[in-house]
Amino acid sequence: MRYKVADLVKAPPGAVRWIEVDDIESAEHAGFQVVAPVQGRLRLMRSPAGILVEGRISTTLNLGCSRCLEPVELPIDVEISEHFRPTVTIPGAAPVLTDPDEEDEAITEIDERQMMDLSGVIWQNIELALPASVLCRPDCAGLCAQCGANRNQEACDCQPPVDPRWTDLARLIEKH
Ligand SMILES: [Zn+2]
Ligand SMILES: [Zn+2]
Repeated sequence: MRYKVADLVKAPPGAVRWIEVDDIESAEHAGFQVVAPVQGRLRLMRSPAGILVEGRISTTLNLGCSRCLEPVELPIDVEISEHFRPTVTIPGAAPVLTDPDEEDEAITEIDERQMMDLSGVIWQNIELALPASVLCRPDCAGLCAQCGANRNQEACDCQPPVDPRWTDLARLIEKH
């Protein structure tokens, strides 16, 4: 989803546009399995330095459990706050001012055709919101490290591997 913002860039600072995010094409799902539409409302505001995009986006992703790899549906609700800055000066637009306080802020660029890559920003924010690990249930028993059986579904006869240090110790004890 790319959004043309030439008119907003030409508008005076403070000007606002609202856009409805209904769904993003599947090609743009950045490798995630999406099970609910990517929806939300974004407010685009002309700022002295560019365009500030703010809003909330929600969806549901199908991720693999970190322990047993079974699919887990994870509802996502992310807050978007991103500052876009034009890469070229547009004739008739107010000059883009660089705010020294914003030096450290990550700036996303508006390309020379005045297009903003909103999908990119949305997926970036979703990715950042994902937990480091996802579990199908808090006590997921995971996969057996030896035979690969899903221990939530079946018990296997594998013995936990013996730490070689214990074998040495056992041998030492036997000698005495
Ligand atoms: Zn699991
Ligand atoms: Zn096993």
